[in-house]
Amino acid sequence: MRWLFKAKIITSMRIMSSMRESITKRQRLFPQIKLKNLKFLILREGHSGLRQFDLSGKAAFWGLIALLILTPIVFYFGSQLLLETAYAHRVAKLRKDNATLHRLVERFEDRITVLQREVEALSETDQDLRVHAQMPDINPGIRQVGIGGTMVEVRTDMDYLLPSSDVSLASITERLDALYRSVKLEQLSYEGIRDSLKNDLARLRSTPSLLPVQNGKLTSGFGLRRDPYTQKYDFHRGQDIKVRTGTPVFATANGKVVAARWDSNMGLYVKIDHGNGFRTLYGHLRRIGVLEGQLIERGDRIGESGNTGRSTNPHLHYEVRLYRQSQNPINFY
Ligand SMILES: [Zn+2]
Repeated sequence: MRWLFKAKIITSMRIMSSMRESITKRQRLFPQIKLKNLKFLILREGHSGLRQFDLSGKAAFWGLIALLILTPIVFYFGSQLLLETAYAHRVAKLRKDNATLHRLVERFEDRITVLQREVEALSETDQDLRVHAQMPDINPGIRQVGIGGTMVEVRTDMDYLLPSSDVSLASITERLDALYRSVKLEQLSYEGIRDSLKNDLARLRSTPSLLPVQNGKLTSGFGLRRDPYTQKYDFHRGQDIKVRTGTPVFATANGKVVAARWDSNMGLYVKIDHGNGFRTLYGHLRRIGVLEGQLIERGDRIGESGNTGRSTNPHLHYEVRLYRQSQNPINFY
């Protein structure tokens, strides 16, 4: 029994010594910090006396540790929250802008469709006018230039900003380009029609299409006839219209007076160049009312009928020539 007790004491002593050894080892590794208790004295304005707070050194130490750990955590989550709020705000603004962009693009599409219809209507009118102006229609292949294809490289990587897959910036640009080409084509076509009509109008104005005297009686027509002087067969280059002397004589088309003078055969006569190869002649006049070089219009009074030159009775000798070839005047009124 004694032995046993002794042994117990020895064992406990050993344990104690080993504990002491471990404490000194720890102290060597982590020298113990001597923490002093802190005292805070607060002096308040308007109050007499001091207030005192005691803070144990240990509490201050752990407080400082907690502060060091918590500060970055709070900072991290706080900044995250701020960033997320800012991001949400930005996304909301982008969504709004995007919606506006969608509406704009859709409106563009609608307007392009309307314009395409307008151009188609213009094209139909153009074809109609060509029929009336007796002009050939535009080659269908040329009309096709207004369809498809694009002249500029289009960025399609921005299409994700658009509302639906059936709308693309490339297709809008393509349609606009096609529209531009169609309008250009129509413009050229209409200019052609205008020029053609202008020419037609000029040709119409320069084509004799009137009787040079009113209430006349045709006495000798165009072609072979017996000459009233020589009684030999001769080619009559114009028409003889029997009228009383002094009957007003009118120009049968627009033109320029190239002769207004005396000729032993024609007597007093007027010759007018109408352009496009047409010339008219008015002979045996009593009086001339125009000057050589004068510009005149259809229906202008150029003189009075008479019986001058190689003429047997009062009448008007009227000639129409096309490129110096005598024409039957009957075809020109
Ligand atoms: Zn004659």
